[in-house]
Amino acid sequence: MNQNKPFNEPSFRQSVDLMFNRAVALMDLPPGLEEKIRVCNATYTVRFGVRLRGQIVTLTGYRSVHSEHMEPVKGGIRYAPSVNQDEVEALAALMTYKCALVEAPFGGSKGGLCIDPRDYEEHELELITRRFAYELAKRDLIHPSQNVPAPDMGTGEREMAWIADQYNRMNTTDINGRACVTGKPLNAGGIHGRVEATGRGVQYALREFFRDKRDMEMAGMTGKLDGKKVVVQGLGNVGYHAAKFLSEEDGSKIVGVIERDGAIVNDAGIDVDGLRDWIAGHGGVEGSPFGTFVPDGASVLEHECDILIPAALEGVINLANAARIKAPLIIEAANGPVTAGADQILREKGCVIIPDMYANAGGVTVSYFEWVKNLSHIRFGRMQRRQEEARHQLVVDELERLSDHLGDAWTMTPDFKSKYLRGADELELVRSGLDDTMRIAYQSMREVWHAREDVTDLRTAAYLVSIDKVAQSYRAKGI
Ligand code: GLU
Repeated sequence: MNQNKPFNEPSFRQSVDLMFNRAVALMDLPPGLEEKIRVCNATYTVRFGVRLRGQIVTLTGYRSVHSEHMEPVKGGIRYAPSVNQDEVEALAALMTYKCALVEAPFGGSKGGLCIDPRDYEEHELELITRRFAYELAKRDLIHPSQNVPAPDMGTGEREMAWIADQYNRMNTTDINGRACVTGKPLNAGGIHGRVEATGRGVQYALREFFRDKRDMEMAGMTGKLDGKKVVVQGLGNVGYHAAKFLSEEDGSKIVGVIERDGAIVNDAGIDVDGLRDWIAGHGGVEGSPFGTFVPDGASVLEHECDILIPAALEGVINLANAARIKAPLIIEAANGPVTAGADQILREKGCVIIPDMYANAGGVTVSYFEWVKNLSHIRFGRMQRRQEEARHQLVVDELERLSDHLGDAWTMTPDFKSKYLRGADELELVRSGLDDTMRIAYQSMREVWHAREDVTDLRTAAYLVSIDKVAQSYRAKGI
């Protein structure tokens, strides 16, 4: 997808560092601390053999720990043929900044395995995942109190369940074993709302953006999310949920979807669920009845729209295409989709970018809730739900008693009554916690963005907030 990426761009990790340096230049950190925060603490490379189809295949995997100012460190494990040390380190750094920004009490880490998961059968993937998990767990790179992986590109609930099981086989008496990894299926200690979390977070982020006129003005926009034209790149877990929620709940129109084999455009709006089912059945978007097929998918990043959501790979908006991007607002649902060079071009054009470390933090936020659930060994809401319902029933009974005296005009609508009476279940609590987290983190960036004249973009604001939090932790540790 990023075949158009020019050669004169820095690497992903250098790109993250460049953005970090831009922000840190505006801060007043003690000498040396800025370097301590920026550098990656350690990267472990493992080459292990797995017997597949009668022969031994050697695979290469990484787990990088960027910052241990808080432990455990946290971050996904990616399965992709393009995985390399530079990428894993860049992603680990972004995890540090992301967790600090949304106040998830973790340091930053990331893992990757250099394979194309589509090349393997399910039982082969299980063998590979268990072996990789074994290699990491025996070095405490998977551990409930030291390093807690999660899903990323190419991995999901299934892989997390294998990892959790592998850890638990190796640590049979660890009562907190389930907290060694997040993003697990519900039956293996997962939490409601984790699968949708990153896409949901993108929706909550956009809602918060559209709550403030000043922010909209910065992008030259008016109105609400309703009716806004959206282009989504990548209809994987993140892009799919973001597109689905924005179209079904906020009235936005998905006018373009970019996938591996090309793109679909339709200014009347694309049926997101229909297209997702089509991709599952056909392996790509070509031939689907939901709009016009465009073989050069990347060109659709330049399609006329209000909001562009890159939700796949890093580096897709780069020096080669940044000047032609028309969207006034980009929300980085993926990690690192805009290179440092492209970021500068877009800023100069007046495009507003809601940065990755904030925009896709919904995933790790709900991972945090899952980890807390695992450590507390109880589902959220189990103690309070019925008690809350009983108290609401008291109010409803009392209102009904009063309305008997006051007449029909004072009766409650049945909809109100049923909604009010129902106590919150785990999914509602997770969404509420996520919404609150996304709002508060956005507000902290917004404050810096509008209050400081030397801060002209949200990414710099995000870095300032998050580096400051990391610096405070170091100071508290006496470093
Ligand atoms: N892989 C996701 C990310 O990049 C989730 C990480 C997590 O939940 O720990 O943020």
